[in-house]
Amino acid sequence: MRIILLGPPGAGKGTQAKMIERDFGIPQLSTGDIIRLAIQNQTEWGKKAEAFVKEGKLVPDDVVIGIVKEKLTQGDLASRFILDGFPRTLAQAEALEKMLEELHVNIDMVLYFHMDAEEIVNRLSARRICEQCQTPYNLLSKPPARDEICDVCGGKVIQRADDRPEVIRQRLKVYQEQTEPLIEFYKRKQLLRVVPSSGTIEEVYAQVKELLKG
Ligand SMILES: [Zn+2]
Repeated sequence: MRIILLGPPGAGKGTQAKMIERDFGIPQLSTGDIIRLAIQNQTEWGKKAEAFVKEGKLVPDDVVIGIVKEKLTQGDLASRFILDGFPRTLAQAEALEKMLEELHVNIDMVLYFHMDAEEIVNRLSARRICEQCQTPYNLLSKPPARDEICDVCGGKVIQRADDRPEVIRQRLKVYQEQTEPLIEFYKRKQLLRVVPSSGTIEEVYAQVKELLKG
């Protein structure tokens, strides 16, 4: 089975991908991991990506596409995979389609993890971390026993700059501009399955399992 996972940051796709991999034995291909591995192995495209990463720049579409292609043509990976973090843009989706055509395979399903923007902001901005030992907390689901004090080491529990509401809203805006056109793209192909994602991890996963079995 070949699956694509779509959804905004904070909707829990990465966690769901790991659970699908564990229970269904379908390898998860996270774009971040694939790019890191290509750089580590100094593949043709990995070297190109490295130049951008070193300068702190975003790896451009054509390089990401090249790396995914390198990966999918390895072994029998094209027979089953969960793509997480790719495609991210319409150009990437079109390139993926061409790639799979050449490999004579199809996407079976696109799972779209849907969550309201404000709920995402609430969830992510509740994240905290211990300044000293890096233990993660969440004011909604796992608050420290004493306000702003780490249960483990007694250090100060803080909010990372990335978890500030205004930063999260900016990331969501970028996501919407880049990725929302993909939702229409896969809807037209009748591959899109919407997974309402505001429940617990287990509740969301129960819906995923139904879709994958059905
Ligand atoms: Zn600590």
